[in-house]
Amino acid sequence: MGNSGVLRGRSIIVAGAGLAGLTAAVQLQRRGARVTVVEARDRVGGRVWTRRDGFYDGQHAEAGGDLIDPDQEAIRSLAHDLGLTLSPILRGGFAYVRKASRAPVIERAAASGGLWAQLARAAEPWVQAHVANERRWEGPIARRLADRSVAEWLDDIKADRQLRARLNGMRGFFLADPEQLSLLALIDQLAAESFAWDHFYRIKGGNDRLAAALAGALREPVHFNSMVQAVAQRGSQVRVTLRCCGGQGHMAADAVVLALPATIVRRLVFTPPLPAPQRHAFRDLPYGPATKTLLQFDRRFWRRAGKPLAYGTDLPIGALWDGNEAQRGRSGILTLLAGGSASRDTQDLIAKGGPEALAAKLRWLGAKNAVLRASHQVTWEDDPFVRGGYAVFPPGYEPEQRAWLSKPHGRILFAGEHTSLRWQGYMNGAVESGQRAAEEVTILLVEARRRSPGGTR
Ligand SMILES: Cc1cc2nc3c(=O)[nH]c(=O)nc-3n(C[C@H](O)[C@H](O)[C@H](O)COP(=O)(O)OP(=O)(O)OC[C@H]3O[C@@H](n4cnc5c(N)ncnc54)[C@H](O)[C@@H]3O)c2cc1C
Repeated sequence: MGNSGVLRGRSIIVAGAGLAGLTAAVQLQRRGARVTVVEARDRVGGRVWTRRDGFYDGQHAEAGGDLIDPDQEAIRSLAHDLGLTLSPILRGGFAYVRKASRAPVIERAAASGGLWAQLARAAEPWVQAHVANERRWEGPIARRLADRSVAEWLDDIKADRQLRARLNGMRGFFLADPEQLSLLALIDQLAAESFAWDHFYRIKGGNDRLAAALAGALREPVHFNSMVQAVAQRGSQVRVTLRCCGGQGHMAADAVVLALPATIVRRLVFTPPLPAPQRHAFRDLPYGPATKTLLQFDRRFWRRAGKPLAYGTDLPIGALWDGNEAQRGRSGILTLLAGGSASRDTQDLIAKGGPEALAAKLRWLGAKNAVLRASHQVTWEDDPFVRGGYAVFPPGYEPEQRAWLSKPHGRILFAGEHTSLRWQGYMNGAVESGQRAAEEVTILLVEARRRSPGGTR
């Protein structure tokens, strides 16, 4: 729906200034609505967080959402529309490094690119069944897959050590160990059309530029340090209760978009309450542990002719890649993403020996004489405004509940990475969900106006 002005005279509150909320807000404003964005933090971007402070040579790296896939059209065209440039990075994709008795062993990028193909082959009967079910998260096929963990499936197929190790190496992707991930989540990923992962993009100057550009397009500045606590609907009004500035406040609007993580939505008080299946959908959805460490070294020792720039590993440090490839300077930043149980392992290493303990684990990459100049670490499960990295569908999660994550509740609409079907866990999923929520609000309010006797509501 492209008609500008259809929401003139309408007021909408958007809760959450991550990519989902900001995308929805800008789209709704374009249609003429008065949009108020409330955000619990003192910055925009949410899980998109570019770190600049403390790094030498004016360099920066991403503590949250980092890599943009080539086939993620929504975020790529949004960036383009806002005048931002995408830098191509990590050509050749991810290689794989596995534990070995003496030193970790690197497998070529092409060989590990084949990991998805290897997995898809091993899981072929289930992939076919899921495709026959049109990738729906309902019915007996989905239920059977949802009940089993990836670890149980590996036992079922008597997987060899190599396949198990490689799945363990994907903790940085799923933010879950094979025991904590439902087979449905894995099969759904394998059944997606493409794995065009031989290169990626990031936004020149930092991914936070996308959030900043969206926020900059808003007429009303984002209300920071404003935490939604309750949402009540009465007649055609929605009233939001906020904790702000040491007290409590209220705002009312014609509709509300809750672009908040599920871990937060489940703590809110709804009047009238959410239907039971929707409550359970939010209640039962865990977010995976994720510790991101950004290590700035005096030189980019990992850059050597013919060597990959990105590695999935089953080591305690998790996955790692060149964190600022397109930036100038002799120094360079390595990004480490420890997902699932690796998050705890990484935190233990840091607690014992500081960031140097992580650097010491990189000898296999050529770190021997490199000097660690600066570092940043973020443990997302400790972040009170998200409580984990992103949503993980665990074994036993009722598959039919998934659709409830994005179902409108009267004039309350839901957005966020966790509501996306194709791109859950990605920035692209957040952007698409914001676009979808904006469409829903528009239709809802235009319909309401058409149905009301005076044509005003
Ligand atoms: C470590 C890590 C690595 C990642 N890597 C990638 C990657 O490489 N590529 C990729 O595409 N994606 C990646 N992601 C995922 C991506 O960052 C997210 O999917 C996306 O940013 C989520 O956007 P969102 O708007 O749905 O949620 P958020 O960004 O979480 O936005 C929600 C907002 O709501 C605010 N909020 C919370 N509670 C309240 C409240 N009560 N009242 C008001 N506001 C509140 C929060 O502060 C936040 O700003 C990564 C995420 C993490 C954590």
